[in-house]
Amino acid sequence: MASDAGGGKTSRNVHEDICRKCGKCCRRKAIIGGRVVYLPHYCKYLDVNTKLCTVYHRRFEVNSACKSIEEAIRMRILPADCVYVRGIKGYRGPVEEWESPEAEEIFRRLAIEHDDTDLTAAPG
Ligand code: SF4
Ligand code: SF4
Repeated sequence: MASDAGGGKTSRNVHEDICRKCGKCCRRKAIIGGRVVYLPHYCKYLDVNTKLCTVYHRRFEVNSACKSIEEAIRMRILPADCVYVRGIKGYRGPVEEWESPEAEEIFRRLAIEHDDTDLTAAPG
């Protein structure tokens, strides 16, 4: 998750250093047609200019939907180009753009299967 890790180089800081702070994992998400889809909005605690979490050291206290890296990998809510999922064979991240062939395919299938879109909020 986008961090503001700084100060002394503890082992945790070194681990966090590999995060390239793109902020994508802090976008809001929905599950549409069985796929996690990134919404165009960010978590309210993300500084959208720096892409750093403003409550990083308290993030799990203040945002119950915020996930650890391990949970985020398991839930497949990290983008496919995130450093933490690099090398995971077959990893498929969320649909990143609403106007993409992948999103269009999801919407097309939903239109066939249902009368309207099944939009369920996902943690994020
Ligand atoms: S998506 Fe990955 S690289 Fe980007 S901010 Fe989140 S943890 Fe860091
Ligand atoms: S609290 Fe929000 S901005 Fe901070 S790491 Fe979690 S999802 Fe990202």
